[in-house]
Amino acid sequence: MQTPGLIVASARLPVSLTQRDAGWEAAPSLGGLVTALLWVARRRPFTWFGWPGTYVPDSDHAQLRAELDKHGSKPVFIRQTDIEGFHQSFSNQTLWPLFHGRIERTRFDAGGWHSYRAVNDAFAEAIAASAQPADVIWVHDFQLTLLPALLRQRGVTNPVGFFMHTPFPAPETYRALPQREPVLEGMLGADLVAFNAHEYAANFRSAAVRVLGAEFTHEGVRFGARQTRVAALPIGIDPEKIAEMGESREARQELASLQVTYAGLKIIVGVDRFDYTKGIVEKLRAFEQLLETYPRWRHRVVLIQVAAPSRMTVSDYQHLKREVDELVGRINGRYGTSSFMPVVYVNQSVSPARLTGLYRAADIALITPVRDGMNLVALEYVAARAERGGTLILSEFTGAAHCLPGARLVNPYNTDEVAAALAECLERPGTSPEQFRSMVRFVSENTATWWSGHFLGQLEQTAGESRHPTARLRLGTMPLAGMAHKARRPLLLLGDGLLHLPAPGSAEGRPDPRLVRLLTDLASFATTYVVSGHTGETLEEWFTDPRVGLVSEHNLATRPPGGTWQPHVLASSSSLKDLVDPLLREFVRLTPGSAVEYRAAGALWHFRSAEPDHAHLQARELLMLLEEQLKGQPYTVHRGKRTVEIRPEGLSKRHAVTRLLDQYADADWLLVVGDETTDEPMCEAVPASWRDRTVTCAMGAQTPLATTWVESLTELLDELEGLVQAWRRRS
Ligand code: UDP
Repeated sequence: MQTPGLIVASARLPVSLTQRDAGWEAAPSLGGLVTALLWVARRRPFTWFGWPGTYVPDSDHAQLRAELDKHGSKPVFIRQTDIEGFHQSFSNQTLWPLFHGRIERTRFDAGGWHSYRAVNDAFAEAIAASAQPADVIWVHDFQLTLLPALLRQRGVTNPVGFFMHTPFPAPETYRALPQREPVLEGMLGADLVAFNAHEYAANFRSAAVRVLGAEFTHEGVRFGARQTRVAALPIGIDPEKIAEMGESREARQELASLQVTYAGLKIIVGVDRFDYTKGIVEKLRAFEQLLETYPRWRHRVVLIQVAAPSRMTVSDYQHLKREVDELVGRINGRYGTSSFMPVVYVNQSVSPARLTGLYRAADIALITPVRDGMNLVALEYVAARAERGGTLILSEFTGAAHCLPGARLVNPYNTDEVAAALAECLERPGTSPEQFRSMVRFVSENTATWWSGHFLGQLEQTAGESRHPTARLRLGTMPLAGMAHKARRPLLLLGDGLLHLPAPGSAEGRPDPRLVRLLTDLASFATTYVVSGHTGETLEEWFTDPRVGLVSEHNLATRPPGGTWQPHVLASSSSLKDLVDPLLREFVRLTPGSAVEYRAAGALWHFRSAEPDHAHLQARELLMLLEEQLKGQPYTVHRGKRTVEIRPEGLSKRHAVTRLLDQYADADWLLVVGDETTDEPMCEAVPASWRDRTVTCAMGAQTPLATTWVESLTELLDELEGLVQAWRRRS
């Protein structure tokens, strides 16, 4: 069997380009992600899709493509007019600050969004054209949030994983994003979405529930018929490489020179990209406070702060630069002498080897981001000092804070606290040897290589669980039109879960107009029924053509094509009301925004307008209590998307299908379509005697109960359209 290949997508390709007379030349550029994937790349076919990082005119595409091919890379070219909007605007000025919780810095620019979407589309196009059936696709970071769903829309069924390197903000912050729905929907196209910390994973799940009305599942969320596993899988580094670099000439020179220059002094180190999320200003303020409040440390301690140039906008950069320059000047002015400056500020990029020397020289690493997805510098400091120990003062707002139990955690906004922590750790090591060893253990076990292997293992397992047990045919591989064009008495039964009708009890939303039109068209050629949980009134309002048959409230009544409503089960809701009303009222009181609705048969507690996290917990509780209360009674309790529903026994879509199959026993072709949760009983109801003239289809996921499946509603509607056309041609 062919080894499944790996396709990686990240905004930038890991190459640096030079334009020479003979054309473009590419050289590999090493970053954390490349290190993590090298191991994988040696074991399976590997292709990396990304933007080359600069505008490349059309005339050069072929040559650059060939050049990049040598590096296992495939370029996704971005139109010149989209570069600013994709990269600078929507990625760096909208998503970056928002995902770091800096709403006041977030700019919402519609133009940027259009370019962002166009670029994500270009990635989807390129990957869909090249993916082989066995390939696994791994999408990285906030620049490509739309890509997983765009791949699904193009019919890509391969396992797709998404790793977010940044934090994911609290739902209240996330909700400010004008494009909050498509961004979440985009990520939920993946089988696995992972973050650096549980906190971000939890924020993401809550946002999906609140913004999209997705449902919590045991391991993630379910949105429509698609299940996505949501996990915390913190990225690692390569500690062996750091140990190796520590022995390099460059690192040893750096260490020796620092030891001479600052002999007798305590060295504190800070290494950051020059970005407002890194808390450089907060760090300088705390250092100033240390010298102010603890005078014994004046002239006895130096802070070496590396601030590598970063991708910020000119105005953000200038603003931060002014603030940092002023602070450094003020501290050095107040506490420096002609021969000694307490802050050594390096506003340029330092090589990894020299950084390792710097880590080795530093008694304390002071890492104070106001938000940081992970912070690899914290891990690197631990790895570089594995032998000698050290002290790590670390912001609690970093992903690393969740992984490094020996770190001295601080709130970077609390200047007094950070200064006090510094004073204390200067006095005696803030981390005991035992604690430091536990951090070294984490860094040595959770390596970059382990992380990538673990992510891919989880992805393949997750995707395998949802696909493998059934491996159903995708509907498009044997179009409906081909199967049914000869049918003389076709019968179509469509479950409403699949049709994206609004959940029962909600006033908002209507069926897709294309669907309504298609049902009308289909009804001219086939006996067509919508089998629904909605009331007859609602259904009549939505489906005005009398030729479309309707089943209301899970088989309570049927309106046959061209006929009038016929009730089936005479159930009395008044006795039900006696049984459950006090309990339901209690839950309405406890769950603001929820409501009770009594129907012709049965009752419904719905929470569409309630706070979702709380309401989902309440729903679970209510379900248990109702089941207890209704034991031995002729009612069943059902959990819907945002409902808990009580129905008389016998009232189910399953019964509706059984009845319709009896009634239309002479049908020579049957199509049953539904989603894989609420409509599954419909497929179950089809008896063996019907199998050779039946197609059952589930939307969004493969289930053992349906013989075929489609990825999306659009795909299904296209199929139905094809069917209408085939029947039209025939008649
Ligand atoms: N780094 C570097 N030279 C510098 C500053 C930083 O090589 O002058 C490296 C650093 O060693 C680390 C990475 O850049 O590997 C920064 O990663 P981190 O997760 O700390 O922050 P990010 O820049 O990804 O937000």
